[in-house]
Order: sequence, then structure tokens, then C-alpha cells
Amino acid sequence: MSSPRMSPNYKPLPVVVATAEGEWITDVGGRRYYDALAGYSSLNFGHRHPALIKATKDQMDRVTLVSRAFDFELLAPFAEKLTDLCGMDMMLPMNTGAEAVETAIKAARKWGHDVKGIEDNQSLIIVAEENFHGRTTTIVSFSSDDVARESFGPFSPGFLAVPYGDTEALAKAIEENADRLAAVLLEPIQGEAGVNIPPDDYLPAARRLTEEANALLILDEIQSGLGRTGYTFAWERVGVKPDIMTLGKALGGGIFPVSAAVGRKEVMGLLTPGTHGSTFGGNPIACALGIAVCDMLATGEYQARARELGEHFQARLEGMVREGLLLRKRGVGMWAGIDIDPDRASGRAVCELLMDKGVLAKDTHGSTVRFAPPLSTSKEDLDWMLDQLEAVLVEIRP
Ligand SMILES: *Cc1c(COP(=O)(O)O)cnc(C)c1O
Repeated sequence: MSSPRMSPNYKPLPVVVATAEGEWITDVGGRRYYDALAGYSSLNFGHRHPALIKATKDQMDRVTLVSRAFDFELLAPFAEKLTDLCGMDMMLPMNTGAEAVETAIKAARKWGHDVKGIEDNQSLIIVAEENFHGRTTTIVSFSSDDVARESFGPFSPGFLAVPYGDTEALAKAIEENADRLAAVLLEPIQGEAGVNIPPDDYLPAARRLTEEANALLILDEIQSGLGRTGYTFAWERVGVKPDIMTLGKALGGGIFPVSAAVGRKEVMGLLTPGTHGSTFGGNPIACALGIAVCDMLATGEYQARARELGEHFQARLEGMVREGLLLRKRGVGMWAGIDIDPDRASGRAVCELLMDKGVLAKDTHGSTVRFAPPLSTSKEDLDWMLDQLEAVLVEIRP
């Protein structure tokens, strides 16, 4: 049901969703599908989790929009719960992930200018190749995806991209630019690039190198965070705490866009009235949802589930690699990227075959398919989904 009235900036699978619950989606014809994408990790708690629906509805009966011109009763409680969950001092609420990243960039540049003493307009942020941090003109300026960039210039200066996971390249870039370096911005695991996991010593090295160069470490946990990897944040896997982290996607419980930059007060405390803001950032429904999401994660139940069920999930995918059905797989917890032999089928073709079998997933970069099932999924449903995947991979085997 695509419409000529819509800008064709997406090429969705030909399914028209009508309703959803838990890990299941129903289309307008009444057919059911397993949601193996979960809104790119926005639906970590499944569709329409009762506690999140209740928090939203209750808030709708009280007040729905305030704007930051006035205070709101749940804003401080949201800030307390979120900073507690993150082990950080301060948060700044926004709406989309890209806005959280923009916020982190601005906070880092302000710190670089005000505290480190970087000269006006000289500030540098080192990023990784194959990154995905959103779609604003500044953010696509440091993307290495030609499709995301082409024809959108002129681009914002002040960014330098180095190969992801390459400690030596990072060390060299930091050393050469230490004086004007405000921050290093990384995804702890690159989701959009196909769930790329860096070597275990990479983030610890980034932490050490940024400290030595008096620069900040910003980790974008928008897709990797909030339980997905079996940890609240993917950086916990390697014990590296950033100065700022960005959150989004699942922070809104799959109901509403909620994002935030969360960090140390020495950085986040520098933004003064007028320097940054958002009409909808920290709105009442966002606060109510954010609190409910923090409460759900504070128990550790979802993280433990992602770890346990994730082991089974990863083991089954590993088995498909051993059987020659997949070229490779990468993954941790309930997150995986699988590489199909491009001579057998494209990622898109596999997603279409999966759809015919009742599974919705999304290809990324040619022959890679990403899986991020809801953390709340039952083992039976997960196994059913994996059975369908296996059947598709057997079908395309020459
Ligand atoms: C999705 C994503 C973003 C952008 O979030 P939007 O809400 O689409 O703006 C930024 N960083 C990462 C790692 C993401 O996965």
C-alpha cells in the first residue's frame, strides 16, 4: 500500500501492518509474522508491553505536553532514574537518536572550547568508519555510506573517520590531533554495519587513549544499549565507561520517541539556558515512558534473559554457519548479523523469503541480515523463527 503521495525514502517489505502484540505482528489481511527486527531494537520489551501501555495511558489522562518553559512533575524523577541506571551525573532529554547524538557532539565541543581551551572552530571529533549515528546533515557529514551522503553536501567539518576496531589507527589519529581533539565518538558495537563487534581490547584502548589526550569518550548506545546485548549497556561487556553516552530507540519502550544524552556533570553541566533545547524533549509522555523503561531494566530481568536466551540464539546461528548455510555470523545476546553467500541470494531476497514464511527481518549492506528479536520473546517462538530461517537457507543452498 505504498503511496505516490509519499517521498520514496524507504523501500519496505510488502507487508502492511495492522496490529501487534509481544513479538507478533498481524497484517491487514490477518496474517501473523514474527518480528525479528523489533523496530531496530526499539521494541526490546516487545510490542505494547502492558506496563508501558499503562504508563502512557495514565499519563495521557493527566497532562501530555508542557514544554521545558515550565517544569513538570516527572522530569526530575526521570532524570534520577536514568542517571542511576547509567551510573552518570546528568542527562539531557531529546526525542530521536540523531538529536541525542547532536546533543553529545555539542556538549563535547562546548567542553573542548570552555574547559580544554580548543580554539574557536578548531574542534575535532574522531569517529569510526562504517558508523551509523543518524541522518542529520552534521551526522551524515562523517558517514562512510555514500548513499547516505551523496548530494547532501556541503558537509560539516570537524570530524575524522578511522577504521573501526583498529586500535593502532585510532592511537595514531589521536596522537596527531591531541591538541584540538574534543572527543572520540564510537558505537560499542556497530549495529547498522551488520553487528560488528570490535576486538575486546579496542574500547579499553579508546578509553585510555582519550584520557591521555585529555579528550572525551562518547559511546552511542542507541541500538546496543538497554538490554540488547545481555547487559544494560554494551560497554559493560568490556568494562569501559564513557564520559557521555547516547540513548534512544528502546528508551521509548517502542511506543514513543524518547532519547537522551547522559554523562558526567563536568561536560553536561556546561550547557546553559539558550545553548541547546528541544520543544518536545522531556515531554510528559516521554518522562512517564522513560521511568517505566528504567524500572523494567533496573531489575536486571531483561538483561539476564537476553544473556540466557542469547546463548541459545547465537548457538543456533553458529550451527547454521557450521552446516555451510551461512558464510559468517556475528552477535552477542539477542543481537546478530548474518552474512549470506552473495552467490546464493541477496539479504533482501532472504528477507522476502522469510516474510513468506512469516518472519519479518531487515537486510543491511547487501548480503547481511540483522536480527534483533524482542528480549521478551519466548524460547518456543524464537526457535520457530530460527526454524524458518534455516528452511530459507536450505532452500537457497545450491
Ligand atoms: C538508530 C540509531 C541512531 C539514530 O536514531 P534516530 O532515532 O533514527 O534518529 C543513532 N545511532 C545509532 C547507533 C542508531 O542505531
